[in-house]
Formats: sequence, structure tokens, C-alpha cells
Amino acid sequence: RRDVLGALFTPFPPVRSGLRLAARLRAADGLRLARTLLLPVRRLGEERFGGEAARLLLAGSALHADLGPEAAGSGGFGWLMSMLGQTYGFPVPVGGAGALTAALVRRLERHGGVLRCGERVTEVVVRGGRAVGVRTAKGEAVPASRAVLADVSAPALYTRLVDARHLPGRLLEDLRRFQWDFATFKVDWALNGPVPWTARPATTAGTVHLAEGVDGLTRFAAQIAMGQVPDRPFLLFGQMSTADATRSPAGTEAAWAYTHVPHRIKGDAGDDGLTGRWDRGEQEAMADRMEHEVERWAPGFRSRITARRLLAPPTIESMDANLPGGAINGGTASAHQQLVFRPTPGTGRPETPVKGLYLASASAHPGGGVHGAPGANAARAAMRRRLRR
Ligand SMILES: Cc1cc2nc3c(=O)[nH]c(=O)nc-3n(C[C@H](O)[C@H](O)[C@H](O)COP(=O)(O)OP(=O)(O)OC[C@H]3O[C@@H](n4cnc5c(N)ncnc54)[C@H](O)[C@@H]3O)c2cc1C
Repeated sequence: RRDVLGALFTPFPPVRSGLRLAARLRAADGLRLARTLLLPVRRLGEERFGGEAARLLLAGSALHADLGPEAAGSGGFGWLMSMLGQTYGFPVPVGGAGALTAALVRRLERHGGVLRCGERVTEVVVRGGRAVGVRTAKGEAVPASRAVLADVSAPALYTRLVDARHLPGRLLEDLRRFQWDFATFKVDWALNGPVPWTARPATTAGTVHLAEGVDGLTRFAAQIAMGQVPDRPFLLFGQMSTADATRSPAGTEAAWAYTHVPHRIKGDAGDDGLTGRWDRGEQEAMADRMEHEVERWAPGFRSRITARRLLAPPTIESMDANLPGGAINGGTASAHQQLVFRPTPGTGRPETPVKGLYLASASAHPGGGVHGAPGANAARAAMRRRLRR
């Protein structure tokens, strides 16, 4: 497990962990592992499990990324997420996700770092082919003596922040084919009691997947592919007070769910005529659709809602420029944009064509999630380069 994770989360090619893994597996087993990781998750479930439950667990886990049950590589992703869940659980920081950021900031400040919030970077300043700093929206130039680690999406970095004359035409051409992951619609709820799940095991789980079987997931992914707002949204549902009692007063529940919708909506597979305008009426209708879905598995859920907050795709984007349309993974997790294809063919590493500039966001290998690997990889690459000079 350690070697597989090492191989997946370090910059490409993963030399040390890759060699260890190769030594452990004889060549033939290595090929079988590669085949397993490339399988569509429906096929993986059918090959390995006789019952529906494990197949559904794997397929729901694959849909933490934009990988439907028939997508190549969804088997590997579903297996990875399930393996992490089985081994470590899906941990959450006590007190809220902000605690994770606060811990990182404390560490930065202990080492003399300074964090400035609310200042938009509008340009990476390049001189002599080298990144020498950034410019903010207020016009201030902030020098960088060592490196610039850009925690922005690949399209934002290469089409807005770095002037095109510093970049190879081939990269800009490749970027035209950059694919975002699905758009996202999220609802946060305050509940006056626990979610009344009919399935007992769901009452103690921090994260619950809501779907009508693997076929339901295929239908959901197909509707998004066809540009339709799914009529039966697949929900990733978090019951945060169950996972961490500090999140809300005793006896209540802080819950959320998100689902995916197309970026460009051509029609509504449901009855509400959603167009992607996402005005108040459309947002309320989508949230009602999601609540209706929860009601199927937890009758009485809606009667426990005391407040709700809606986060439509444009709202999510307005809160964080790295989430265009609520794309949460910095670009698709599909096989054609992973590893050496991430974010464009031939890279797979945090280095960019500009010396001293590193891509440190989820657009870089190994992609989205709160694992911090793209940032850690970028920092290590910058430090290694510094040591070599
Ligand atoms: C609703 C939702 C639920 C999720 N659930 C999970 C989950 O359960 N588990 C999990 O592992 N992952 C989850 N994710 C995914 C995960 O949060 C992201 O993949 C990850 O945070 C991306 O990291 P990042 O560093 O690329 O970007 P971000 O974490 O978005 O950080 C980028 C930061 O840079 C700032 N920024 C952007 N552009 C500029 C600029 N020009 N100038 C200055 N600042 C700028 C942004 O405001 C932001 O603060 C979720 C995401 C969302 C939206």
C-alpha cells in the first residue's frame, strides 16, 4: 500500500517508490495491477465481487472524482478511495475544515513566513525567462528571490497570469483541450436532529453516498455527459456532527451534500426546466431535488431542516477562483488528463516552462483533494532546484 501511494502521490516518474513497487511485484503481477487500475469501476466490481454492496461502494467512491462507472481508470480511483477509507477512514479536522488551513498557517509563521489574504495576484513577473515575483490587483510588485509556487488552475496560470510570450506555443495549444471536471451544486443544512436514515450503518458514517445502484450512477454520469441536469442526483452527503461532535450543539446535525451538473446545460432531465441560469428559483428547485433524494433514504429528513444555504456553480466560483463552475478537482480526473498528461501531455511534474515557477494546485499531478500533494511536490521541486544551483 505504501509503495502504491508513494508512486501515485510523488512527481512523475515516481522513481524510488516505483522501483520498490516493481521489486515487490514480479513483472507479470505489475501488469495485472496496471490493468486493475485502468479498469472501469463497473467492470472491476463485477470481476471481484459477487454482491451489489461492494460494487456500489467502489463506484460511489470513483464518483468523488468525475469518473462514471464506465470510465477507464474509474476502477483504480474507486479502489484507491475505498482503500484509504478502509485503512484511515475519511478523517475530518476537529472544529471544521478551516482548522487544517490554520495548522498550515501556524507552521508557515513559525518558520518566519507571512500570509496575506484577500489580495489577488494578476501577473507572474518574468524576467530573462525566470519568475522573479508577482504583481497584485492593487499594482504592488512582490519579489520572489527563490521561486513562485502558483496555487492556481493551469488555465489561469498560463492564459491569465503568465504572458504568452514566455510560454511555448505548444503548451498554449494543448491548453485549449484542457478539460474541467464536472460543475458542482452544494447545499449546507442545519438540522434539529440526526438524519433519520432507514439504513442503520448510515447513522454513524461521516460520509454517505446516495445512489440507486451502479446503474443509477451510470445514468447520472450519462446525463451529465449529455449536458442534462440529472433528475436523480448522486449525492455525496456529509454529516459533520456525527463525524465531529464540536460542529453543532448536542442533538443537532450540521450536514451538507453536493452533486454534479454539467458546465454547459442543454436541458433538464427532471421536471423543473432548469437551464443553468441558476437564479434563485433554479437554485431552490435544485436544492429541493436533492432533499427529495435524501428523503428516499431518510424519510422525515426535510422536517428536521432549520436552515439551508445554497451554493450554485457560479456562487462556488465567486468564492474561490480555483473552482470554475464549482469544478472541485482542478480539471478532469479522466485517464487522458492524469499522470504525464496532467495538466497537459508531457508534464506530470510541477516544473513549468518558466524557470522558478511551479504549478502547485490541483491542476498538477496527482490532482484534486485535500491531500496537499501538488503543493508539497512543487515545494520539494523548488527546494531541490535551489540546492543544485
Ligand atoms: C464543495 C467541495 C467539497 C469538497 N470535498 C472534498 C473532500 O471531501 N475531500 C477532498 O479531499 N477534497 C474535497 N474537495 C476538493 C478539494 O477541496 C480541492 O480539490 C482542493 O482544495 C484544491 O486545492 P488547490 O490548492 O488547487 O485550490 P484551493 O484549495 O481552492 O486553493 C487555492 C487558493 O488560491 C486562491 N486564489 C486563486 N486564484 C488566486 C489569485 N489569482 N490570486 C490570489 N489568490 C488566488 C483561492 O482563493 C484559494 O484560496 C472539495 C471541494 C469542494 C469545492
